Order: sequence, then structure tokens, then C-alpha cells
Amino acid sequence: MAEGAIVLRGVAKTFRRRSEHTAALTAIDLDIPEGQFVAVIGPSGCGKSTLLRVIAGLLTPDAGTVSIAGLSSLEARRTKWFGLVPQTPALLPWRDVRGNIGLLGELNRHGGRAPGDGHLIPVDVDTLIATVGLHGFESALPHELSGGMQQRVALARAFALGAPVLLMDEPFASLDELTREEMRFLLLSIWEKRPRPAADPSTDGGRARTVLFVTHSLEEAVLLADRVLVLSARPGRIIADLAIDLPRPRVAAQADTDEFVRHTREVRAALRLGAGQ
Ligand code: ADP
Repeated sequence: MAEGAIVLRGVAKTFRRRSEHTAALTAIDLDIPEGQFVAVIGPSGCGKSTLLRVIAGLLTPDAGTVSIAGLSSLEARRTKWFGLVPQTPALLPWRDVRGNIGLLGELNRHGGRAPGDGHLIPVDVDTLIATVGLHGFESALPHELSGGMQQRVALARAFALGAPVLLMDEPFASLDELTREEMRFLLLSIWEKRPRPAADPSTDGGRARTVLFVTHSLEEAVLLADRVLVLSARPGRIIADLAIDLPRPRVAAQADTDEFVRHTREVRAALRLGAGQ
């Protein structure tokens, strides 16, 4: 199987607390090829975060299987096949910008793992700091940064790991609209520089970065993704799988085009159907 691919078969998850059962996900079948940018959207509480947490091995599904590049979630987590970007930046308050961004790489080395293990995509921390616009803030502590700057650090930290898969859970939800838009294009500009999937996955080009991005904004989903998965109301199941064939690199002006509007209309219609409206 190609590196970076995510495959789910018959995944279901129900939360059980005493007599209370909450079915969060049901019958999830999914194939994400290497290098694809996939957005997941659905009504609030439909199981989007649960899906991401099951893939990341933070929750065990009640049924079904998950594989990341042919590995189980736990094995993929242990070998740093994916980076996880949460809703809030969760930076270490006592570490400066460079310390937070470089942290995971250091842990890898201390754990006896290093880019030489083969799958990690080499990334230069200083280049990454400059790309996210934090040049000059390398020694700043998180409390000295604005919310937007902290989220830039979190984004850079996720990329610094060099993992072939990024799992992102509404990473820009807490930001104001202007900063959100800026962060979307920043994410795209870093992602679009990824290695391309090669015909022969044993070559370097076979380490393209795959992104699974949870959002509740349909404009964000259409703007970012190659493909949008729409989940139904809880228990979440995939009710639409829509290809977004807008040209890349994506630019802000695309949001005014007929194609963009057509795609958002399509996603909105699927969302309404899933919410039972
Ligand atoms: P979304 O991300 O789509 O808003 P979630 O995946 O967070 O939805 O949650 C799906 C459903 O599962 C919700 O009804 C939520 O209350 C419930 N849920 C999530 N995590 C837990 C948990 N740890 N224990 C019990 N119920 C949970």
C-alpha cells in the first residue's frame, strides 16, 4: 500500500457511560490516497472529532479497522506517521517558539528515531519559522504571542515533524475571520510545496503529505480540499463524497467564481440532507 494512505473499513464508535449510550459513528468506509487533501464536514456533534481520534488511535473503535500506510493507528502513532493539530494550539508555556516547533523532532531523536528511519519528510525548522511569518520571534514565549501567532506555531510544529499524514481538528476555529483566512492560505502554501506522489512509491516522491481536515465551515472545506466528505447527523456516516476540482494553487479570488459557488452549493445541499432538513 502507498505511504500516507488512510483506509477505514466498517468503523463504528459508541460512547458508553453507565446506562447512557451515545452512538457517534457508524459504518465508516473510507479510502484516502496518498497526497490528497480531504475535508470532513457535518453538523455539530455528528462525530467529526471522534473520527479523527479513532484514526489517531486515541479512541478504540467498537467495530471495523483503521490503517495508515498499512499500519494500525497505534503503530502509526508510535512511528510518528501522522501529526495531529488540535483546535487550540496547546503549546508548552515555558518553551519559546523555536523550542515548541522543534520539540517533536527532539523527542524523535531522544526516542531513537530520526529522519533516517525513512518516512519522515525532511524539514528545516528555520525555514518553517520564516514561512509561517515568525522570523524574529524565535525566542518569544507563547504568552507573548497573539492567538493567531500561537496557531502559526502549532501549524509549524505539525509540519516540523515531517510526518506523511496530518490530522487537523478545526485548527482555525478559535481565530478571527481575517486571521483564519490568512492561516488557510498559509496552510495551503506549505502543503502545496509537498513532494508529489510518484508513479513508483518506492522513490522519494512517494512521501507526499496527506491531510484530513475537520471543519464546520463549508467555504473552508471547498477552498482547501481536493475532496469533501459530508457526515450525517449523529451517528455520523458518510453521506456524500464530493470531488473539488478547482485549480491549484488556490487563491482568495476563487471564492467569487461560479465553480466555487457551485461546489459550496453542492456541499450545503448534502449537509442539509444529512441534518434531515
Ligand atoms: P463533532 O466533532 O462532530 O462536533 P464529536 O465527535 O466531538 O462531534 O462528538 C460526537 C458525539 O459523541 C457527541 O454527541 C458527543 O457528545 C459524544 N462524545 C464525544 N466524546 C465523548 C466522550 N469521551 N464520552 C461520551 N460522549 C462523547
